[in-house]
Amino acid sequence: MALTARLHRHPRPTLAAPRLRLGLTATLGLLLVAGCSTTPRQEAQAGGKAHPAVQRAQADVARQVQQADAPGSTNANDAADARRGLIAAPSGQVCNEAGQVIWDFDAFAFLNGPAPDNAPDTVNPSLWRQARLNNQAGLFKVRDGIWQLRGFDLSNITLIQGKTGWIVVDTGTSRETSAAAMAFARQHLGAQAVSAVVYTHSHVDHFGGVLGVISADEAKARQVPIVAPAGFMEEATSENVLMGTAMARRAMYMYGSRLPAGATGLVDNGLGKAVPFGRVGILPPTLLVQQPREEHVIDGVRFVFHNVPGSEAPSEFTFALPELQAFCGAELMGHTLHNLYTLRGAKVRDALRWSGYLDDALKQVEGSEVVFTQHHWPVWGPERIRGFIEHQRDAYQFIHDQTVRGMNAGLTAPEIAETLKLPTALQQDFAVHGYYGTVKHNVKAVYQFYLGWYDANPANLDAPPPVAAAKGYVALAGGPEALRASAQKAFDAGDFRWAAELLKHAVYADPSDKAARELLARSFEQMGFLAESAPWRNVYLSGALELRDGPPTQAQSRVAFAELLQHTPIERFLEAMAASLNAEKVGDARLTINLAFSDLKESHVLRVANGVLRHEAAPPAADADATLTVTHPFFVRMVTGQVGGLGLLTSSDTKIDGSRLALGRFFGWLDKPAGTFPIVTR
Ligand SMILES: [Zn+2]
Repeated sequence: MALTARLHRHPRPTLAAPRLRLGLTATLGLLLVAGCSTTPRQEAQAGGKAHPAVQRAQADVARQVQQADAPGSTNANDAADARRGLIAAPSGQVCNEAGQVIWDFDAFAFLNGPAPDNAPDTVNPSLWRQARLNNQAGLFKVRDGIWQLRGFDLSNITLIQGKTGWIVVDTGTSRETSAAAMAFARQHLGAQAVSAVVYTHSHVDHFGGVLGVISADEAKARQVPIVAPAGFMEEATSENVLMGTAMARRAMYMYGSRLPAGATGLVDNGLGKAVPFGRVGILPPTLLVQQPREEHVIDGVRFVFHNVPGSEAPSEFTFALPELQAFCGAELMGHTLHNLYTLRGAKVRDALRWSGYLDDALKQVEGSEVVFTQHHWPVWGPERIRGFIEHQRDAYQFIHDQTVRGMNAGLTAPEIAETLKLPTALQQDFAVHGYYGTVKHNVKAVYQFYLGWYDANPANLDAPPPVAAAKGYVALAGGPEALRASAQKAFDAGDFRWAAELLKHAVYADPSDKAARELLARSFEQMGFLAESAPWRNVYLSGALELRDGPPTQAQSRVAFAELLQHTPIERFLEAMAASLNAEKVGDARLTINLAFSDLKESHVLRVANGVLRHEAAPPAADADATLTVTHPFFVRMVTGQVGGLGLLTSSDTKIDGSRLALGRFFGWLDKPAGTFPIVTR
């Protein structure tokens, strides 16, 4: 998961008085388990009824799920493993300083009802099963000296007993949820100090909550080691700065951030329940693991690190704990097929490399009695560990090789995706089912990785853009009514994909066509109900919601990221600034601005010419039209939208030399996208 994913506004499905077992209020001002303000219960907008074709399909899946949980099957232990070692389970809610709920342990209580083979027909039974497994929140003993806090966040926090305190592996997404998790651990295991922090990789759900684990002052005063893989800081602080707005908007779909929790809404996210919406920070590493393999003794515990860059994350490592006979698989492995391409939009990942690292891991785990990961529950026993990793390895290689084979036979990505199925042995292992990534969209990722967007058909080289094509197709269909009738027929027959394909054109051609919007929403809904992948379900149900209610009125503010963005190199912001330059407004104008930082001894020269903004770290240029001197904290407030033009002119943190008019003109050229753009309409 990545930075922009943190959009989840977790609508409360219930206003029932929270049980108070968490009991952390005394220790943490941030956390008020009781007395959070709650938003009113939202009913899912969905028509909420499964089509008979969906009911039939769910019944088929229910039978497979029954087999999964039958004694002797690969996944028969999942339910027991997800609960194994439970010390205590939390309930209630976690709030932020403003008293808003950012995490609700009770939100998914509805999953405790029907067993997977009897799931509501609005949820794929296999996803229902995964959603129940992911709903096992608590403090768990993994092995002597290793505990995990699961279900306090999308990701897990792992505690390893060091000589003087806990070595904390990954710190959750937000300060508030991590503080709650740590307080819960202290409540049940006794108070211990944090003796080290280990980040397994550069995705925000694994470091963003560090300031809830340990304060910056304490980490500094006690010189607490903070360990991370090579390249961590650069990747962690830069991820999505450039593409942040678009990814954040798309992430709202993928993580279902506008969906109410419930059997016709949000049930899971594949990796865990949801993404908390709290404050994100970072503490820079003090020890970077640079070599492919490195051994370090951290607070008396021997770690054997293995760097696995360019797999699930650009900067990532796994590690063995030989004395504890345990292996941390980071996010290289887990109880789902992961993403080679993530639906929020991101660069595609290298399937072959990923598979290769998993093969290496088979040797690295030798001697381990348990493998624990950064999402989901652990795997115990050498034999099951081996099977678990082999299946993960082979799933990625299979998708890679068979996609390449299809490409070389002249097939296009959708053609390969339509027919490729994992071999039976892999299909029967639910740990490689597509709860997060899917075979279908991962095939397209492999195609994109090697051949890109163009499928080589000349008709697709310069095809008409969506609205023009839509208008043409609607006319060809004999007008919107005829098209809707045809779509209705497809819907009635249970062919929701074709219905959506037709209606997409009707809605693009005329967004005010309410009947088309509603039928498209109903089609998306059924596709969401059918989906085994949580992101697919969220995407479809979010599309349905937007067709009915319109796009969101507010994007996620960047203020929650301020503590992280303070560590982001200035260059990343300047690249983003250049990519927000409105070339139409600029025309042929030329302008030079000096940007100087009074507190960093750093300055940049920004030159606009030929419709591009170029930036260079250099002393102020003598020919500049204006010089803007700011402090670094002010600059971060500026890029997070906390101060605007007036603040710039009036703050004591800024100084302007030269032409204020030129400076005003320059800032006027920069787009400030609202981040609420429509997705299903034009
Ligand atoms: Zn993660």
